[in-house]
Amino acid sequence: MSETPSASVKEQGNRSAYDVVVVGAGFAGMYMLYRLRRQGLSARVFEQGGDVGGTWYWNRYPGARCDVESMQYSYSFSDELQQEWNWSERYAPQPEILQYARHVAERFNLRPHIQLNTRVEGAVFDEGTESWRVTTSDGKIVVAKFVVLATGCLSNARVPDIRGLPDFRGSVYHTGHWPHEAVDFTGLRVGVIGTGSSAIQSIPVIARQARELFVFQRTPNFSIPARNAELTAQQRDAFRKIYPEVRRFAREQARNGIYAEPPDRGALDDGDDARRAKYEQRWANGGLTFMLAYNNLILDNAANDTAADFVRGKIAEIVEDSETARLLQPDNHPIGSKRICVDTDYYATFNRPNVTLVDIRADGIEEISPCAVRAGGKDYEIDALVLATGFDAMTGSLAKIDIRGRNGRTLKEKWAEGPKTYLGLMSEGFPNLFIITGPGSPSVLSNMIVSIEQHVDWITDCLAWMRGRRVETIEATKEAEEEWVAHVNEVAQATLYPQANSWYMGANIPGKPRIFMPYIGGVGVYRRICDDIAAKGYVGFAMAAGEQSPRKAVSS
Ligand SMILES: Cc1cc2nc3c(=O)[nH]c(=O)nc-3n(C[C@H](O)[C@H](O)[C@H](O)COP(=O)(O)OP(=O)(O)OC[C@H]3O[C@@H](n4cnc5c(N)ncnc54)[C@H](O)[C@@H]3O)c2cc1C
Repeated sequence: MSETPSASVKEQGNRSAYDVVVVGAGFAGMYMLYRLRRQGLSARVFEQGGDVGGTWYWNRYPGARCDVESMQYSYSFSDELQQEWNWSERYAPQPEILQYARHVAERFNLRPHIQLNTRVEGAVFDEGTESWRVTTSDGKIVVAKFVVLATGCLSNARVPDIRGLPDFRGSVYHTGHWPHEAVDFTGLRVGVIGTGSSAIQSIPVIARQARELFVFQRTPNFSIPARNAELTAQQRDAFRKIYPEVRRFAREQARNGIYAEPPDRGALDDGDDARRAKYEQRWANGGLTFMLAYNNLILDNAANDTAADFVRGKIAEIVEDSETARLLQPDNHPIGSKRICVDTDYYATFNRPNVTLVDIRADGIEEISPCAVRAGGKDYEIDALVLATGFDAMTGSLAKIDIRGRNGRTLKEKWAEGPKTYLGLMSEGFPNLFIITGPGSPSVLSNMIVSIEQHVDWITDCLAWMRGRRVETIEATKEAEEEWVAHVNEVAQATLYPQANSWYMGANIPGKPRIFMPYIGGVGVYRRICDDIAAKGYVGFAMAAGEQSPRKAVSS
């Protein structure tokens, strides 16, 4: 590895060489770049989008905002940054989060090292030179010692395969790929397909514009009111003062990377009145921490039922039409076993005269004609269609890159039965290829910026460790990977999560193997495991030093 960046960036025809290629310029790719540059490594980030920001560049649908509070859904690596940035609301809207990402790119001078509008098409490991040959959509080849995949867990928008969709005459939008220019639904008849997180955020906003709105629902989801509000200067200041403790708690103690009052007992330890009072208080406070009311809500069906019944009761109270309320009440999965949603006026929106809930649970959507969606034998005439159909989560964007490791084996082939990683960071047979928030790590079950920072810090430390010992390659061993995959499954099976057909399991993608992908053990526990492995000289990873082959073990 080179000492200085300029020494190692080599240009030759349509080829250049870097220490590290990073794929993606969302929060993960940007922070990775920052740390690599600080280590004096040369790095190039390729981003297929037209700007930095990842999720917040693509998801511009009406009502898009974070569901972890902004004071926490933000980088912690720079105290100056967290002290100077003023979040305007408890949950910042998408344009503000994108603005924050741009600010970070500029403040830390990242832009010169990021190439926008460029897809990474393939990455092939050359066993002779022990380096990666990365091919990009602009026809270039980039050679790099390391590749970091910061491609995002929710970055591959899923367009459902519905008969007739290409023939629809009106406009079609996907929430995860929203146009940059404002979309105005005023006076239009609109259909929204899907009732996941993006739908739940956008439906109340679209309903206020549209002449008529039809919501096509296959599976109702649990949603908790956000109680969003402007943040005052005093609130921001008070929070900033406790940042050291907030960040410490989020990293080390929290299961989900969020600073919140932790539960001290199980749901059945309280009597009916005390339990109801606690749920009322969490409901009034709003947000994801509803699930922290008790410590066994995601472990025990009877405990979970108490929370699920409470939310179903709230839906019945809010929604005036009893049949619509019944359809909106989730009844086929424990609360929290699918990503819980956070909304503003979602359930109340169904009281509007211009909004109709269409139940498609039994037969799905039959077809889309040039002017209508047909479901249950009835045509719903619309002018515009919104696909709020989510993502091919966690593995979708990785599978779209032609990644070939040792012996030419592709990552896609290796993961045909489901993703296999060690710690969610590396996959055996793919040396020097790191994944940020990969399957097998807490990722989507957490405040993702906490998980992103943890992975980036771990990778950075690992590279420094390797450099200090003149180690050229690192890769997961088969044994360590198998043990980790088994552990991830074992931990998941001890919870209620596998009871839901969720995108955590790949269940939203026809043909995708059903494997619980994220690690449920909690971000604090997971961090300690990763740190311990590093402290012991990266146990479970094979290292090779010096000349290219044969591979040698390196001891710490
Ligand atoms: C609507 C929405 C709301 C969310 N709200 C929250 C929240 O409140 N809290 C939370 O913790 N998480 C939230 N998330 C999850 C969110 O994805 C993460 O918090 C975070 O933004 C992920 O950052 P990332 O850099 O890992 O991935 P991304 O932001 O997805 O960035 C990955 C980037 O990689 C690029 N890319 C992918 N493949 C290639 C390729 N082959 N070549 C070049 N570029 C490529 C993509 O274009 C993308 O820009 C939300 C997700 C969505 C969709």
